[in-house]
Amino acid sequence: MSENRVVQGRMVTARTLAELIEDDSVMEAEPISEAEMDCPKCGGNVLEVGYMPSVTEFVTGQKCQDCDWAATDRD
Ligand SMILES: [Zn+2]
Repeated sequence: MSENRVVQGRMVTARTLAELIEDDSVMEAEPISEAEMDCPKCGGNVLEVGYMPSVTEFVTGQKCQDCDWAATDRD
């Protein structure tokens, strides 16, 4: 299974997806998975990725493949 996905017309890896969600660089990212939800903004498909923005923090983030909507478990 490829780890690359298309988000808003652009190919992303787990790491670049995490960086889109975080709007900053991240240290580590787990493989991308499918979130069990549709985008609340446009109804599009939502991807999920776990990542470490720093050594002491683990965040699970979601990002719509079709629009700017993104969320994390910090929200
Ligand atoms: Zn959306």
